[in-house]
Amino acid sequence: MSTQTETFEFQAEARQLLRLMIHSVYSNKDVFLRELISNASDALDKVKLEAMLDKDLEVDTSDLHITIEADQEARTLTLADKGIGMSRDEVVEVIGTIAKSGTAELLRKLKDAGDAESADLIGQFGVGFYSSFMVADTVSMVTRRAGEPTGTRWESSGTGTYTIETVEDAPQGTAITLHLKPEDAEDQLHDYTKEWKIRELVTKYSDFITWPIRMAVTKPATSDDAEATTEIETINSMKALWARPKDQVSDEEYNEFYKHVSHDWQDPLEVIRMQAEGTFEYQALLFIPSHAPLDLFMREAKHGVQLYVKRVHVMDECDALIPEYLRFVKGVVDSQDLTLNVSRELLQQDRQIELMRKRLVRKVLSTIKEMQANNPERYKTFWAEFGRPVKEGLLSDFDNRETLLEICSFDSTNSSDEQTTLKSYVERMKEGQEHIYYVTGESRSIVENSPHIEAFKAKGYEVLLLTDPVDEMWVGAVPEFDGKKFQSIAKGAVDLDGEDESESDEPKQREGYADLLSWLSSTLSEQVKEVRLSSRLTTSPACLVGEEHDITPTLEKMYRAMGQEIPQVKRTLELNPDHPLVTSLKEAYGKHAGDPALADTAELLHGMALLAEGGELADPARFTRLLADRLVGALPATAEPESEGE
Ligand code: ADP
Repeated sequence: MSTQTETFEFQAEARQLLRLMIHSVYSNKDVFLRELISNASDALDKVKLEAMLDKDLEVDTSDLHITIEADQEARTLTLADKGIGMSRDEVVEVIGTIAKSGTAELLRKLKDAGDAESADLIGQFGVGFYSSFMVADTVSMVTRRAGEPTGTRWESSGTGTYTIETVEDAPQGTAITLHLKPEDAEDQLHDYTKEWKIRELVTKYSDFITWPIRMAVTKPATSDDAEATTEIETINSMKALWARPKDQVSDEEYNEFYKHVSHDWQDPLEVIRMQAEGTFEYQALLFIPSHAPLDLFMREAKHGVQLYVKRVHVMDECDALIPEYLRFVKGVVDSQDLTLNVSRELLQQDRQIELMRKRLVRKVLSTIKEMQANNPERYKTFWAEFGRPVKEGLLSDFDNRETLLEICSFDSTNSSDEQTTLKSYVERMKEGQEHIYYVTGESRSIVENSPHIEAFKAKGYEVLLLTDPVDEMWVGAVPEFDGKKFQSIAKGAVDLDGEDESESDEPKQREGYADLLSWLSSTLSEQVKEVRLSSRLTTSPACLVGEEHDITPTLEKMYRAMGQEIPQVKRTLELNPDHPLVTSLKEAYGKHAGDPALADTAELLHGMALLAEGGELADPARFTRLLADRLVGALPATAEPESEGE
């Protein structure tokens, strides 16, 4: 018996995703069954745990399972579970909307993507329940939340709206019925009402599900006069992969299990297994994905592995076991010694958990290190996808800092397309070179052409080009690698001639600058700390350098963008005594001190130094005006000056 039906609208994002599902840009439609089974399995995990923790919960956990039922005539496929179910509000909330982080980002990308690309993005995102609209033109669901007296019936054709009504006598759990799209006569392969097809998909995608998946199967007649019979059969093996010996699990099984735990539609890059015996026993089956999720850098994104206690799923996204900088790691940890009612708060303080986390982290890092040594191509993919979060570890994981530094790769002036490890950098260091040189900034092209780098290039010193925002942070906090200190080429005084044993090419004309420098320092005192001569410039007239412990302009900008008030950091303006602009300025100052054109030139010099490093001018309009005035004088003289008719 049911009551009156109400119609609701899907949230805008949900509508957009559904439209994509209906017009199905994704070629592998088979995956819808994996998604539905995965949801059913989660629902069973939840009801089992809740029943254990709440003895008063009215729910039958004696025979928890999933049933698949196909009706060839009606062309329907029904997937039912005895799980936790959903309340009416939950249905509206989780089925009518998409709360997943990264949705906005996904939709933005989908807007300009072609069909193939869209399919790829959808695959990366994983659309769960909605994938049923790839194969069905109507989907209906009856669900009852464990402990509640009535259930809810939901139905939709995926176009804009759905209906909801209360159902008085709903069975425990959730039953989802797909009204499959009309059969394509040529497409026998995708007839999801066929027993063999369902069996094939379950074996392929969901064999490891720890709950029985049951289906009525036809048994052929055993003798001529007997009739074919139907029997209920469990069609998955239910073996927990992490508990099976390593060599008895195939790559395909690992891949499918990964997709189940991660909601990713692509294969993982690495599989990591661990087994701890003794006083604290646990097994872990972890994965490194092959691509970064869309929410890798979103603050609200959850992370962590699934936690099982003695084969019972007790928690998703257990972040006590995996540090934030390894937030891309997915998988399962199954402990024999924890209690079932562990809470997140308790886990955060538990010493055993702390030890487990340490071992898991070491194992993940050693796997990456092995990948780097033995499979450079795979490592490259890994680093391109996850290098940024891994570098965050340099700031938070002191115990593993050495290993982290070893597995990092960076752009460098050594090559325009290959990144370098620190180890290789050190091997290439010049005779007598004591420091690892680096420059930070917003992009490779900016830092590579910044004035600071000129003398280093000219003298053949390699410089690391650090352009990730996180680089700004760690490089200030990590003192050294392999006994070599990190040294910013845009900070402090640089004396390359001291490092360079060879004779410097030409002695610089450093005499007679004292007056000019002190005048410049006072003229530009609003903008800079001091003006001095440089030994890091070869072709540019000037550059700006910070003190050893000053924060960099990029970092300053980042803090401001995050809404933090920080005082403006004044830097030092360094002049190239070999540049004609600088030498002429010296001469002009000697002859015409007090001429207003000198102050304008000083201001232009400072502005040029800022622009050259990719910085922003405080008053671009004023700079342009001063520059335009100069350019007039720099043009070749025109034949006859126009007479204004005096
Ligand atoms: P995801 O599984 O990635 O969260 P889905 O769109 O597949 O996304 O499902 C959304 C939510 O709907 C689930 O998180 C769960 O709360 C709920 N849900 C889906 N299927 C079931 C089910 N069979 N039983 C109970 N809840 C379900």
